[in-house]
Amino acid sequence: TDAAATNTATTNADLFARAQAAIPGGVNSPVRAFRSVGGTPRFLVSAKGAYVTDVEGREYVDLVAGWGPAILGHADPRVIEAVTDAAARGLSFGSSTPAETVLAELVEARVAPVEKLRLVSTGTEATMSAIRLARGFTGRDLLVKFAGHYHGHSDGLLAEAGSGLATFALPGSAGVPADIAALTLVLPYNDLDAVRAAFAEHGDRIAAVIVEAAAANMGVVPPLPGFNAELVELAHANGSLVISDEVLTGFRVSEAGWWGLESKTEHAYTPDLLTFGKVIGGGMPVAALGGRADVMDQLAPLGPVYQAGTLSGNPVAVAAGVATLRAADAAVYAHLDGAAATISAAVSEALAAEGVAHGVQRAGNLFSFVFGEEVPVHDYATVQRQESFRYAPFFHAMLDAGVSLPPSVFEAWFVTAAHDEAAIDRIVAALPAAARAAASA
Ligand code: PMP
Repeated sequence: TDAAATNTATTNADLFARAQAAIPGGVNSPVRAFRSVGGTPRFLVSAKGAYVTDVEGREYVDLVAGWGPAILGHADPRVIEAVTDAAARGLSFGSSTPAETVLAELVEARVAPVEKLRLVSTGTEATMSAIRLARGFTGRDLLVKFAGHYHGHSDGLLAEAGSGLATFALPGSAGVPADIAALTLVLPYNDLDAVRAAFAEHGDRIAAVIVEAAAANMGVVPPLPGFNAELVELAHANGSLVISDEVLTGFRVSEAGWWGLESKTEHAYTPDLLTFGKVIGGGMPVAALGGRADVMDQLAPLGPVYQAGTLSGNPVAVAAGVATLRAADAAVYAHLDGAAATISAAVSEALAAEGVAHGVQRAGNLFSFVFGEEVPVHDYATVQRQESFRYAPFFHAMLDAGVSLPPSVFEAWFVTAAHDEAAIDRIVAALPAAARAAASA
C-alpha cells in the first residue's frame, strides 16, 4: 500500500476515498478538497518546472505553484542541490546556524523597512507573532483588519477572512472565543473613510492595522493608489503600527515585494512590520516577521514579547529560501511579469469571445478573474456578488485539458520562471473550451 505514495498504480479517486477515511475531508488544508469546484482532487507525486504530475501519471501545466513559493519553477536544480546538501549535514539542530543570518541579510538588503528579521515556519505564525509584538510594543489591544484579507488561521484573524473562508462562505470560525473576536475590527478594504472613522472612535486603543500589501486571498484586489501610504499615515497619527502582510506578495511581485513596487511611486510607504512566507522558503516551511529595529527588539530574548520555535530557522528549509532568493533576480521578475500579462490577456480574450462578462484583476504578476459586470473590484462585498458559478465549469475544462488552476475563484493564479512558450501554449489551447463552459454555466 505504501506504493500509493510513490507510483502510479492507483487512482486519484481511490486515494481520495482512502484519504477521507484517514484525514478530515481528505486534506490537510481546506481549499485542496475541491469543495467549491466539485470533483476529485488530484494527488500529486512530482513536480518539475511549470508542470505537476498526478498519481495516475497525468501531467498538468501548473498555475498554483505551491500557492506561491515556486517562483523559479518546481524542483529548480539550484534549490534542490542546496536542500540536499543541507539535509546531508543534518536536519535540525535547535541551535543557531550561519544560513539564518544570510537569509535575514538577503531580506534586509531587498526590503529597506526590514531592519531586523525573525524566522518562523508558517505565514500564520508570522502574522500571529507580529500582532503580539505590536500589542506588546504599543500596550494596546485592538487590531484592525480588512474584509477579505487572509492572514493565516490564528484566533482573531479569522473574522471575514479570505482564502478558504471566502471559498466556503464562512463568516469566521467556530472555536474562536467571542472575547478574542471582539478585539478585531473588520473594515471594508480600500475604504479610507472607514479607517478614519475607526481611528476617530477607537484610536487610542488600536495596536495595529494588519493589511495584505495587495490583497490576493479573495481573488486579486490591489490597493487603490495611495491606500497603503494613507493607512500608514493615519495609523502613525494615532500611535498605531502597520503590519504589511507580504506572505503572498513578498519576493513574488518584485525583488522587494509589493512594498518595492509602491516604493518607486509617489505613494511610497514605510510599514512598521512586514510578514513574509511562501517564496522566502522556496517551497520549504520558512516564514518571517521583520521591520523597525526598536519594535523587533521587543521580542524575546531582548524584550518582553515571547516568541519561539523548535523548527524556526530550520537549516534545510532556510537553505531552500536562500537558494531561491539568490536565484530570483531581475530577469526572473521580468519573466513572471511577461507570463502573467500573456496568460491573463489570453484568458480575457477567450472569455470575451464567448460573451462572458468578466474583469481581470492584477497586482503585479498576480492575477485572477471576476465574473460579472461589476468590475474592476475593490472590496470583498463586490467580489462576493460576482457570478462565481461560472468558475467551476471553467476550472474543470482546464483541468481536463491538462491545466491546473487554483480550485476556487477566490484565489490568485501563480506563474513561475519556468512557464515558457510551450507551457503557455498549452494553457492558451485549453481556453476556448473552458470559456464555452463558463458561458453555458
Ligand atoms: N498571509 C497571507 C497574505 C497569506 O496569503 C497566507 C497564506 N495563503 C498567510 C498569511 C498564511 O500563511 P500560511 O498558510 O503559511 O500559514
